[in-house]
Amino acid sequence: MAARRLFVTTALPYANGSFHIGHFMEYIQADIWVRFQRMQGHEVHFVCADDAHGAPIMLKAQAEGLTPEALVARIAAERPRYLQGFHISFDHWHSTHSPENTELSQSIYRALKAAGLIDTRTIEQFYDPVKGMFLPDRYIKGGCPKCGAADQYGDACEVCGAVYSPTDLTDPRSTLSGATPVLRSSEHFFFRLSDPRCVDFLREWSLGGRLQSEVANKAREWLEGDQGLGDWDISRDEPYFGIPIPDAPGKYFYVWLDAPIGYLASLKHHFDTGGAARQTAQRFEEFIADPGVEQFHFIGKDIIYFHTLFWPAMLRFSGRKVPDNIFVHGFITVSGDKMSKSRGTGISPLRYLDIGMNPEWLRYYIAAKLNSHVEDLDFNPDDFVARVNADLVGKYVNIASRASNFLTRLFEGQLADVAQHPAWTALDVGAASADIAQCYEGRDFGRALRIAMEFADRVNQTFDTAKPWDLAKDPARREELQAICSVCLAGFHALTVWLKPVLPALALKAEAFLQTGPLGWADCLRLPRQVSRYEHLMTRVDPKLLDSLFEPPAGSAPAPDAAVPAAKAVAKAAGAVKAANPKAADHKAGDAAASAPATISIDDFARLDLRIALIVNAETVAGSEKLLRLTLDCGEETPRTVFSGIRSAYSPEQLIGRHTVMIANLAPRKMKFGLSEGMVLAAGWDDPARGTGIFLLDPDQGAQPGMKVR
Ligand SMILES: [Zn+2]
Repeated sequence: MAARRLFVTTALPYANGSFHIGHFMEYIQADIWVRFQRMQGHEVHFVCADDAHGAPIMLKAQAEGLTPEALVARIAAERPRYLQGFHISFDHWHSTHSPENTELSQSIYRALKAAGLIDTRTIEQFYDPVKGMFLPDRYIKGGCPKCGAADQYGDACEVCGAVYSPTDLTDPRSTLSGATPVLRSSEHFFFRLSDPRCVDFLREWSLGGRLQSEVANKAREWLEGDQGLGDWDISRDEPYFGIPIPDAPGKYFYVWLDAPIGYLASLKHHFDTGGAARQTAQRFEEFIADPGVEQFHFIGKDIIYFHTLFWPAMLRFSGRKVPDNIFVHGFITVSGDKMSKSRGTGISPLRYLDIGMNPEWLRYYIAAKLNSHVEDLDFNPDDFVARVNADLVGKYVNIASRASNFLTRLFEGQLADVAQHPAWTALDVGAASADIAQCYEGRDFGRALRIAMEFADRVNQTFDTAKPWDLAKDPARREELQAICSVCLAGFHALTVWLKPVLPALALKAEAFLQTGPLGWADCLRLPRQVSRYEHLMTRVDPKLLDSLFEPPAGSAPAPDAAVPAAKAVAKAAGAVKAANPKAADHKAGDAAASAPATISIDDFARLDLRIALIVNAETVAGSEKLLRLTLDCGEETPRTVFSGIRSAYSPEQLIGRHTVMIANLAPRKMKFGLSEGMVLAAGWDDPARGTGIFLLDPDQGAQPGMKVR
């Protein structure tokens, strides 16, 4: 078989925040596939990069008083530790804010323009008169034009799934300033996807059988729907952090144009800096134009549109190689729920490593649950413990410890040649190997591991049936004993090969134990000759570790710093809300509710000045893990500043532009970080066992800042 030449990427993580577990699900999936290909002797170039451009990064940098470059550099600096921690074997990691990406993006744009596929049109767009910029769709909220749901983003409705433009929203407002946006016109650049050349090409590329069936169905909806393909707006006006459009002062490429080009930019930098020289003498431009090279992108189901329409069309019509396939996966859920930091069901990859959990447990668990479909993957803590302990420790590692014990004790670690032994031929390594290889190739990792574990069961049965502990008592049966232990260790050797794409660090230890060099795929048929003394290859998962894996959400843990008053304030407000619910009295009540009198008079209630407030701004507080600094418009001349201990439940971006309820006549409190002039209300349980989330109160659509709540 001729060696394949593979260019493989994962989606580029947006450089405005740390990795989350969803990134690692994708990296682990791609890494397993790539390691499998390398073990087959294929040439692989596996790259990724930080996706550094766009309005969210520009605005976040502004809020933190940084340049976008400095913000991106800070995020990039923390990446390697996580990637190495989970054994992700990227050959190269780059950034879309790079000379390579600028050059490639501009050259692709020029080629599309020369092909007659770029149009300019003057469009009317929302402009934030307070902030002084055109508003990206995500920074405009309002009512969905289709179903009427309130508080929907400017591009799509999360309730009914409708896709629209922000000008279609009812009651639009800027989430940056709270201002009502005004329409201004500006010249924009469009990639003419509606051109018949594009439509014909995309129909052939995406419906020709290469894509997963779920993905092809999506593409069919877009290509053959009533609307047809719309042209794609690829420009943004300054101020914008991005790549300038050639010959168009003040215009930048929309981040989604240059992000996928970042795959090529990372590959180019990899080649230009000599990283590919070990595998090929070609230069980047030769390699990427070589029809023998296969190109694959691993992505999540939320970005199918960009990768099956825009990306192949951009490449095709700029005269470049198009992807051979896009491998799409679903999302990760925790115990059946969408992961939520505020509910305490978020898994932080950093925390996973920090508390000393073995990264290969997670690699194995994720692999065992992955198949080739676009399905969500559920992380269930009990299942995690059971599967890792039963499969990896109970089945796989167990073989090595049991069989090697006799061999090192009685045979100086020497194995017998069992090539013709009936127990060895009965295991039929060749058949299992072919099946497992096929599953890896087709990304059906769960099935690959099931076949491997069935094989491990058969090896363990072989061991048990032979009763080596009895054989060891009879000096006349030594040869039999050595043979059966050798068969089992040869089985362990084959399993090590098959599990190596998933468990690279464990395989390294097993290779030392089996006294072999780095194992390639074909080595599974070879017989080991000699083993070293067995040392622990992997420990069992302690279920207690899973308890500490899930981060305690906001408000549930005692706060050690000046955040205490604010965190308590929220908890108390939550208690007050709960006490209003008569059912709550039946349950175990926390301190706040327990100390509250059974009833209060209406006059007591009237002493609270509750008002609607608009969250005009929200930002993190340097030096506090718990607090957000909120700027609240509560209908007064100047906005108020309130510190609130809800940082673990909400990011500032989620809050800006929202309305909530505040206590306006709470005595101002001097805090370490400044004066807090009130308190916002949120709901939550006192008993962490019932749930630990914090939920900010939200008035119905139409409520105005300053309105009294009574
Ligand atoms: Zn809707």
